[in-house]
Amino acid sequence: MNRNTPVIDLKGVGEKTQRLFEKLNIVTVGDLLRSYPKDYEVFDEPKKISRVKLGEVCAVYAAVSGIPNEKKVRKLTILNVNIADESGSLQLTFFNMPFLKKLLRQGGFYVFRGTVQSRGSLRIMEQPRIFSLEDYRKQTNCLNPKYSLTKGLTDKTFRKAVRQALSEYAFEEEYYPEEILKAYELEDERRAVETIHFPPDVNLLARARKRLVFDEFFSFLFLLRENRRFSEGLENRYRMFETADTVRFLEQLPFPLTKAQKKVWQEIRDDLGGNYCMNRLIQGDVGSGKTILAVLALLMTAANGYQGALMAPTEVLAMQHYETICGYVEKYGIAFRPVLLVGSMTAREKKEIYEKTASGEANLIIGTHALIQAKVKYKALALVVTDEQHRFGVRQRESLAEKGDSPHILVMSATPIPRTLAIILYGDLHISVIDELPANRLPIKNCVVNTSYRPKAYQFIARQVSEGRQVYVICPQVEEGEMEDLENVVDYAEKLKNALSPQIRVSYLHGRMRPADKNRIMEEFGAHSIDVLVSTTVIEVGINVPNATVMMVENAERFGLAQLHQLRGRVGRGENQSYCIFVSAQEKEETMERLQILNRSNDGFYIASEDLKLRGPGDMFGIRQSGEFSFRMGDIYSDAAVLKEASDAVDRLFQTDPDLELPVHQKLKQHLQEMAAANVDFRSI
Ligand code: ADP
Ligand code: MG
Repeated sequence: MNRNTPVIDLKGVGEKTQRLFEKLNIVTVGDLLRSYPKDYEVFDEPKKISRVKLGEVCAVYAAVSGIPNEKKVRKLTILNVNIADESGSLQLTFFNMPFLKKLLRQGGFYVFRGTVQSRGSLRIMEQPRIFSLEDYRKQTNCLNPKYSLTKGLTDKTFRKAVRQALSEYAFEEEYYPEEILKAYELEDERRAVETIHFPPDVNLLARARKRLVFDEFFSFLFLLRENRRFSEGLENRYRMFETADTVRFLEQLPFPLTKAQKKVWQEIRDDLGGNYCMNRLIQGDVGSGKTILAVLALLMTAANGYQGALMAPTEVLAMQHYETICGYVEKYGIAFRPVLLVGSMTAREKKEIYEKTASGEANLIIGTHALIQAKVKYKALALVVTDEQHRFGVRQRESLAEKGDSPHILVMSATPIPRTLAIILYGDLHISVIDELPANRLPIKNCVVNTSYRPKAYQFIARQVSEGRQVYVICPQVEEGEMEDLENVVDYAEKLKNALSPQIRVSYLHGRMRPADKNRIMEEFGAHSIDVLVSTTVIEVGINVPNATVMMVENAERFGLAQLHQLRGRVGRGENQSYCIFVSAQEKEETMERLQILNRSNDGFYIASEDLKLRGPGDMFGIRQSGEFSFRMGDIYSDAAVLKEASDAVDRLFQTDPDLELPVHQKLKQHLQEMAAANVDFRSI
């Protein structure tokens, strides 16, 4: 059994489970073993009822103190029963579990485990799990893995499949040379994978995690180094001159560039006209005005008779860029002949675009990574801009080079990274920083609230809409019931429609809609035929509708701070005062404290560093950060120390044996080649 064995070959995994796994993108045993737990459940000692904290998962050891009371509400059977220990009492509530009525005998002692909530003066534990004391004791203080699941798949099934896989899996032989293993105190891979799924204790878990994080960073940085070797000193084959086009365009724009934008524009012009091929990153917080710099660079390219490509991570964003640029062409008559190329187009539409691209009729090609597929032939591609894109990877560059092009590369990112980390993570790029927002911006006003604030928030939304503004509401899931009790886009939009006056136009957007529908909704929102857009995080990056002034995020506790900051970046893009309302369904102190960081500041750097302080280095269960460096396990902020070690290891390797020719490096070479071929884990696409 190896990485590519399909999961159905595992004992106990039938077709039904196979399909459920497939929903989670788990097709092979390799996928399964690399689906690390998102958290671990620790069965801690049962608590006295009087000590139980609201909102927290805990266990109590108590006696059934009354006779279970059964009610029927429509299709639902509700069973209430009281329990008590010497310190106090609680009510338990079960849904559709009528058989418990017999099981829970008055006077019987059990361990009940669940979350306690308050309803008026009542304290209620809903749907607790029930154990005999003996059974519970057996599991106390173990770390039980919890996985990202889908409806119909339980942790129990998942764990069983993982156990089965671990018992039969043929791990690769150790690929790191002894020297690296020793220097960085790395755990053996097999043990690391076993431990991450079933940790005997927290210390061993930390060791296991370190090995896996190191692996991710190491392969990523190794490929990055290769990329640099490849692109460093590449001659500029498309030397450009500044023309009147960009100068005139800048004069016509309704705003002057900020000082920071001007500086970066100068750097870009120097690159495009210089001796070497450009390889530059523009780093600037959300709303700092990166797009206009891309447009300028692309315009200079077009004016010099070449083609440019603008690549976005989502179709929605690609569409928006296309619209914006067509708008510029119309308004200012600039020299673009733009086309849009996205995966969801029909074969015929694509064919037409391919032809225009190959003939040079189109001089600006905007799209998702459909842009660099083998089928696309360019006439004279001289510049590729990637916006908010997982970095432009080695393989993308190589695939372009194979076609005979070595275009200039410009990467734009809003991920706030301290300089020391940027040097490691963007080791192959020159870095330009936009460290200033346009002057016409008012700082966004924020608030962090609980769900009882909703009626007020809706009033506020209605007022903003009546003043001509637009609103985003973000929910964590698409439809009901994929996960726990989270708000979902479809029902929420309905709820909002009912809560707001009928004149207010509410619509929704999510990633599972057909691309054409997504595009239509975004266009309508852009054209202000929709007032309130309820959406998942598909609008997280890049979307620019300056008239939108309210961002309300439901279940804000579910998102990472960086992601919330990105979401908030969708408002505050024009001259109107903008507002951000973070609604938390959880009132845990830590949650609130975390969200308060956003409340205090609109600065991406500050937020990233405060978040790190709260989570601490090597944080294991922290909420995943969004952004381009979302490794499967590693977190560039809280695992910065491991990142530095991996970088150090790669550096040393490149100093002694850059082509991995020495016998001790053969296994590593093979491993890295396989990783690159399988395109595993690191997001350089
Ligand atoms: P981001 O850096 O997040 O990609 P955008 O490039 O989308 O930001 O810019 C956000 C908004 O700010 C856009 O509506 C853009 O037209 C506007 N903008 C860009 N530069 C300036 C400027 N110098 N002054 C005023 N508005 C600007
Ligand atoms: Mg942008």
